[in-house]
Amino acid sequence: METLVLATRNRHKVEEIRAILGDGLTYRVLSDWPDAPELRETARTFAGNAALKATQVWHWLKQRVMRGEGGEGGPCWWVLADDSGLEVDALDGAPGVDSARFAALETGAPGNSPDSENNAKLLRLLRGVPPERRRGRFRCVLALVGGTSPDVEPAVRFFEGVCEGRILEAPAGTGGFGYDPLFVPDGYEESFAQLGPEVKNRISHRARALAAMARWWAGQRTESVPRS
Ligand code: IMP
Repeated sequence: METLVLATRNRHKVEEIRAILGDGLTYRVLSDWPDAPELRETARTFAGNAALKATQVWHWLKQRVMRGEGGEGGPCWWVLADDSGLEVDALDGAPGVDSARFAALETGAPGNSPDSENNAKLLRLLRGVPPERRRGRFRCVLALVGGTSPDVEPAVRFFEGVCEGRILEAPAGTGGFGYDPLFVPDGYEESFAQLGPEVKNRISHRARALAAMARWWAGQRTESVPRS
């Protein structure tokens, strides 16, 4: 069974990725290693940040292997990073790549902000904006690296998923994480937080990006089967 290292400390992302990809893989997550590095997210695009996180973790794991501290699933392992966020048309695409630290942008507080503060800021900025102008979308870019031996620098492969919808005027529901209580996907009348994981993991930005990755992965496997 192949090993997929998830380059995130966000337990909600981990839960969703595992639920969507299923049990055919062995998963490792950053919290498995107390000495795993803090991930850099200094790019201004989702793809840039996803690539930074995936390659940083790949190189860190390579150093461990070089020191004889154990391979992660044999000589070839895979690292997957997810960079994602909410883009709101009435805010020119904000919070976008700043989704996790949206509230902290104003206060200058270090690191990410609590979901409640990010949601409160979004509602404040959209106060008075009518329903027809509250369109937005979740976007997820996955960066996948690996499948090579540690001495070969692997290529970064990207997979993107988008989920269109609208922003509510008040939070609804208790499920999910992040902006889920404020986001109603197209074709539904309830927020992601109300719809629950079964629906969300079928139609979300993350589900769509993971489906694209799974298609590519399946193609790889078929190509590597020797033809007679
Ligand atoms: P990242 O960890 O830098 O990719 O930031 C992701 C942030 O985007 C999260 O902290 C949430 O605020 C938001 N986000 C991404 N995906 C979702 C989702 O599926 N539901 C709700 N919020 C999300």
